Amino acid sequence: MLQYFTGSKNHNIALRSFALSKGLSLSEYGIKHVRTGKIDTYATEEAFYNALGLPYIPPELREDKGEIQAAIRGSLPKLVDIKDVMGDVHLHTDYNLEPSHDLGMDSFTALLDRAAELHYEYIGLSDHNPSITNHSEKQIVAIMKRRKEYYEQQYSSWEKKTHKRVKYVLMCEVDILPDGKLALSDAALEYVDAVIASVHSSFTQERRIVTKRIVRAIESNPKVRILGHPTGRLLSKREGIDADWGEVFRACKTHDIALEINSYPDRLDLPDTLVFDAIKSGLRFCINTDSHAADHMNLMQYGVSVARRGWATKDDIVNTLSYNKFKSWLLKGA
Ligand SMILES: [Zn+2]
Ligand SMILES: [Zn+2]
Repeated sequence: MLQYFTGSKNHNIALRSFALSKGLSLSEYGIKHVRTGKIDTYATEEAFYNALGLPYIPPELREDKGEIQAAIRGSLPKLVDIKDVMGDVHLHTDYNLEPSHDLGMDSFTALLDRAAELHYEYIGLSDHNPSITNHSEKQIVAIMKRRKEYYEQQYSSWEKKTHKRVKYVLMCEVDILPDGKLALSDAALEYVDAVIASVHSSFTQERRIVTKRIVRAIESNPKVRILGHPTGRLLSKREGIDADWGEVFRACKTHDIALEINSYPDRLDLPDTLVFDAIKSGLRFCINTDSHAADHMNLMQYGVSVARRGWATKDDIVNTLSYNKFKSWLLKGA
């Protein structure tokens, strides 16, 4: 009954016709042997699928997107699990670098403490870039330098005091401007390890323009390693951008850019259907919470669910890598 009523509808239709081909008929009452009329019931979904001669198909895959065929072949993906996640690298702290977007509410050390509770090996500091309308280029470079020094000093006193083992990478969430330039110059980016590039404005550009915009941003500085909340959608509030995702994915593949799966419940971005397509294009993902408070770091499970719905395995997710491996991937462009 659980399997029957939780669907999805498309999966159940496909499963019913598969069952019929074996002389079995499915209903909320169990599995009926068409020839004898005998109905068998099962205590678990695993037993139910096994009775059809299939391995267990996780609920996230039940969409009739090839999961039954994959189950028959024995090639179902081993889906990524929340326990595989080693770090969360899209975090905003309360350090004021005078951005045009919002600051986080909690301190760097509060985020480190939460990361230790979550058994992470590392976090990434990805504050918004300083506002480019309110500062000169020289001021921005000075702010970025000061920020780096501030975090270094905070980290070393936190480490001495707590003896905890969480590491950090110094990143920045940089606006992709309407013309595809990054909001920060190469000189300002000297003070970060890597960049999450994100669209935060001009969401309604036509497809050709917005596609070119993203590709240009990806190619503009080798420190860009992650494309943040790629569609920019806000659920029930804003449609995402209308990009040619095939072209964006090709550019990401060429430059080994990870697509973010943003776990924040209003976003869930990249959406699962695009995760599914991107995996076929050989892309990898970074699942982040985009936390603006330490409590938001507990939202990781929602991004993991999206990844699972897109058929992602551990190997498809860059932040399942250990700190050393993650950092060497991240610094490829540095
Ligand atoms: Zn953002
Ligand atoms: Zn953010």
